[in-house]
Amino acid sequence: MTVKSAGSYLYYVYDSGQRYIVDIERGTCNCGRYQIDEIPCPHGIAVLKSKNVDVKDYGRYCSELYRPQTIVKTYELPIVSMLDKKDWNVPGFVDDEEVLSPKYRRPPGRPKKERHLKSSESLSLNLNRCGKC
Ligand SMILES: [Zn+2]
Repeated sequence: MTVKSAGSYLYYVYDSGQRYIVDIERGTCNCGRYQIDEIPCPHGIAVLKSKNVDVKDYGRYCSELYRPQTIVKTYELPIVSMLDKKDWNVPGFVDDEEVLSPKYRRPPGRPKKERHLKSSESLSLNLNRCGKC
């Protein structure tokens, strides 16, 4: 990957003929992974490497959610287990309600004869067949 500066925090990253625009301060890349995962995508990592950022400082470019202190805070409150089922206080209107399965409606058209292959299966598809099938 080739990294070129396009401003104070903007960078162009060229990867396999594609150009990605990374804003390292806002944590965005037009590949979309940086915004969704809130962890630098491969293009963000390429920018950090080009800026000679120490690997130990990469955490600054990740979301607070991944920091150990945040994870510890998640379990700070005690989790109280439920009482035995016979001791539950269920309101009458909840107990009286009958939940039925949804009505099945056959979709239009002929059902498919073969299932769709996963992308990993299609690569390893064995094309050797006998003359009858
Ligand atoms: Zn990216």
